[in-house]
Amino acid sequence: LTDLICDLDGVLYLGSEAIPGVAEAAARFRGAGGRMLFVTNNAGRTPAQVADKIRDVAGVEASTEEVVTSAMAVVGMTSPADDPVLVVGEAGITEILGDAGRSFTDDPRAARSVVVGIDRGIDYQRIARAAEAVRSGARFIATNLDPTIPVESGLLPGAGAIVAAIQTASGFEPEVAGKPYRPMRDVVRRRFPGPAWLIGDRLDTDIAMAEAEPEWTSILVLTGATREPPSDHPSDLVVAGFPEAIELILAQGGVRRA
Ligand SMILES: [Mg+2]
Repeated sequence: LTDLICDLDGVLYLGSEAIPGVAEAAARFRGAGGRMLFVTNNAGRTPAQVADKIRDVAGVEASTEEVVTSAMAVVGMTSPADDPVLVVGEAGITEILGDAGRSFTDDPRAARSVVVGIDRGIDYQRIARAAEAVRSGARFIATNLDPTIPVESGLLPGAGAIVAAIQTASGFEPEVAGKPYRPMRDVVRRRFPGPAWLIGDRLDTDIAMAEAEPEWTSILVLTGATREPPSDHPSDLVVAGFPEAIELILAQGGVRRA
């Protein structure tokens, strides 16, 4: 059995377009007995919504239980001591934190923590309230620092761009939940405790996360945020895209490199 940690944006799809060949490659991998965990820093969607998107857009079989988002890493970092939480984000954050028992506020003076992720409805007032809460002593937690999200037409601002606004306005630095940081690695390791492959398109998140885990072998794909092979190969392997990565894994007989 082979365990595969797979990134989504820029690996299986770009926005609402599938990367060619991913459905067939994933089916081959599953047919060979491989297990997949879809691990995304993007906390905009709930795991159920992410699984729907993987099936609908990429044509790849996926269950809610196979999805890990950075909001789940935030859950592992927080406790009732952080309630109430002021959220800058979407359903993918509020639903996961709510399920974990966190309570919410929009009052910057009442907030004990501020959790910031991708928020496509962000406005000036929300940035102002979040910055005031952080300045007033609330814990400052970012789901992730991805500067961009790769889509069909290019790059859209990622959660990191929103975090930067609150960081600049408050003068405080966030704790970070998502790839490549430990809270996300802990969530993944609980599911896949042994050796695993990791396929991703970002050097500073996906590949950096694998570098921190000696048992994970990383494969960089060039279909997303990284379009040229890096000069100093920080990943273990570099291939054109997800189908080539799966071929490479299966060609090794599914044997995991320790
Ligand atoms: Mg990606």
